[in-house]
Formats: sequence, structure tokens, C-alpha cells
Amino acid sequence: MPIKKGAAPVDINKRRVINGEDADVIQLYPMKHAWAWDYYNAANANHWLPTEIGMQLDIEQWKSTTALTTDERHAFETVLGFFTTADSIAANNIVIATYRHITSPEIRMYLLRQAYEEAIHTHAYQYIVESLAMDESKIFNMYRENSSIYAKADFILSFNEGIFDKDFKTGTFEADQKFLENMCVFSLILEGIFFYSSFAVVFGFQRQHKLTGSAEQIQYIMRDESMHLNFGCQLINAVKEEQPELWTKEFQEKIINWIVEAAKLEYTYAANVFPSGIFGMNAQGFKQYIEHIADRRLARVGLAPQFNVENPFPWMSEAIDLPKEKNFFETRVTEYQTGGALQW
Ligand code: FE
Repeated sequence: MPIKKGAAPVDINKRRVINGEDADVIQLYPMKHAWAWDYYNAANANHWLPTEIGMQLDIEQWKSTTALTTDERHAFETVLGFFTTADSIAANNIVIATYRHITSPEIRMYLLRQAYEEAIHTHAYQYIVESLAMDESKIFNMYRENSSIYAKADFILSFNEGIFDKDFKTGTFEADQKFLENMCVFSLILEGIFFYSSFAVVFGFQRQHKLTGSAEQIQYIMRDESMHLNFGCQLINAVKEEQPELWTKEFQEKIINWIVEAAKLEYTYAANVFPSGIFGMNAQGFKQYIEHIADRRLARVGLAPQFNVENPFPWMSEAIDLPKEKNFFETRVTEYQTGGALQW
């Protein structure tokens, strides 16, 4: 969109998450979606790099023939097989699908940070694979070869069809719903469900004082991811508020059905990858855990829980607590001014 030289100041009340080109997509101020700026600052306060974390113990344990069982080695390689490509899928979606359709500069600021964090996560997996001298081609290609990892990647990537098209534009009811659908699937499912059996396994190692350097990397990743998820929920809720007509009964049912299907894919993945269970977590435990978090994701965007089960792995919520900035978005609820209340 060309800049109008000498035009009147931006009318902030016209700023929108999507379809708000009239309110300037370049000027950060005035802000309308100030919550996104808070996320940007919180994410910066949580900055970390994989190379800051010592990997010596992991290297010794991985080399040793007695420190880890065959099942544990297989489990660790397989979760890396999922992780190594999952964050690249997330990054591509932000850069190729989400960013160009978002018309709020403050939301774009956080997306730039989020895209960088996805790169840091892929770097962390690369760093683990390299430190432990694993077979890179085996680990990084696993999403094609392991059927339950493939099923998750294939499910997610199918939601990029249409959106990755260079001619895709928001601005019609159908296109806007398609875009909202992409945001729901990527935030609630990819970032909110598909990482969590793998996170649980890694923290299982940590609780046994095994591969603790890798586990610390994954702990930082999980803290970032929980912020991505919370941001994504807020983004979805902001679009719902600005364009409530998109959130139809049929649309809500579609999202619920996909979340139920994704939960199944996730616990099938856990059952296939850890057939005899691991660290006291068995197939039933994974299933219940995934159903529990799926309900939490649904609730965050105002959809009805579908499973109503207790969290069988309560220690997972503690795993997010890290010394730096803490995962404060998980507990904090802030009301911000929106729409007509804003004057500048
Ligand atoms: Fe993410």
C-alpha cells in the first residue's frame, strides 16, 4: 500500500488485527493492541541461546553404554525427530502465512520476535544433535519416515493450503475465516498440543537426572512456546472481538473437531513412540494428559471442554518455572482498552 504523503494522522480506531490497512501498517505508535507490545517485551526479557547451556553431562551419558537404556535412547531420538522439523513448520507459518496479513504494527513486532524464537528452537535441536554426535540425516528426516510424526506434520501442513498461495487475501468472510482457522490450528494444536508428549518425555529424563543439558534447552523452549500459545489465544480472541461474525457455531464446531482429532494424533504418537511407556508414563497417562491440555486450549478461546479429565502429570506445570522472567502470562489476566475507547 503506498504511503499517503502529508495525510492526516492515523485514526487508531481503524487499526485491526487483520483488514486494517487504512490505519497504517508501519507506524508503531499510536498502539491499539498494546497487549502485543507487552508480549514483545516479556519475550525479550526471556532471551536465551542454546550455546549458553552446558552439554557435557549429556555427551558423557550419550557416549556411555550403561547410562541410558535402549528404550530411553530410542525415545530421546524420536522426540528430537519430531522437534527438529516442528519449529521450522511454525516459523514458516509465521513468516509466510501470518505476518503479511496482520495489519497491526505492534502485533507484527511480536511476530518478528516469535519467528526468531522458532529459529532459536531449531538451533537448540541442531545443537543437541551435534553435541551428542547423532546421525543428523536420520533425526532431521524422521518426520517423513516415522508414520506418527508424519501424521502430525501432514495434519498441520494441510492448513497452509490456500494461505501460502501468493494471491490469498483477507477481506472476505470466507478468506477471513480461513485465516482465523489457520491461527487456531497453529496456536492451539501445533504450539498447544503437538509438543506436549515430547516435552513430558524430556522432563521425564530430567527427573531422573539424565540428559539434563538437553532438558534445560527444552525447558526454555517450553517457556517460549507457552508464551506463543498465550499470544496466539489473545490474537484469536482479538479477531473474534473485532469481527464477531466470523465465529459462527459451525466454525466453532470445526475447531473443536480438529482439536479432538489432534489430541488423538498426539496420543497415538506417544503410544507408537513409547510402546512400553517411559519413566512411569504409559499410553493411558499420555492420553489423559493430552486430553487435559486439549480442554485447556479450548477454554482459552471460549470453547467448551470435551474431555473433563484430571492432569495425570501435575509436575509438568512446574517444569515451566524457570529463574528468569517466569511464565507470568499463564496466570496473569489483563484487560486492555479496545476499539472506540481509544483516543490519541
Ligand atoms: Fe512457537
